[in-house]
Amino acid sequence: MLTGAIIKQLPKVELHDHLDGGVRVETIIELANNYGIALPSTDPKALHDWFVEGGKQKSLTLYLQAFGVTTGVMQTKEALKRIAFEAVEDLADDHVCYAEIRFAPILHTAGGLTMEECVQAVLDGLDQGTRQTGVPIGLILCAMRNQSPRHQPRGGQTGGCIRRSRRRRLRPCR
Ligand SMILES: [Zn+2]
Repeated sequence: MLTGAIIKQLPKVELHDHLDGGVRVETIIELANNYGIALPSTDPKALHDWFVEGGKQKSLTLYLQAFGVTTGVMQTKEALKRIAFEAVEDLADDHVCYAEIRFAPILHTAGGLTMEECVQAVLDGLDQGTRQTGVPIGLILCAMRNQSPRHQPRGGQTGGCIRRSRRRRLRPCR
């Protein structure tokens, strides 16, 4: 029988992974405490359950509340780099051998970061994770369709740091 334990051990490719959709609850709690941000719960188990319950609601608004919590603590370079690094660690722990992570830089500018700074911080975290785990990671930048093209990442703003970190190669699964 194919069990969860067997699936975890199998080498996998992850092609649709939202950076703000898989942040560790312990990290959210620690960062929220550092930044003075209120959370639905500061207990890891209760906060985990809150996210799971939100995901089961048949309401996009309720579902998106969860992203409001995660993006709320992702407004500094340090937080973005740490969360990107931990995402690679978690993928490696799940035996993912190649992943493409996506995020929308515009959602991380509320604390004053530019979109380029957001992208660079995430790339720094991903690169650190790749060096540590050997898992190559691609980064996809998302635009929000409810916002004007003026607020979207464009080549002139973000292309520079993407080009600077084009060191990613596909490697065979181990
Ligand atoms: Zn998606």
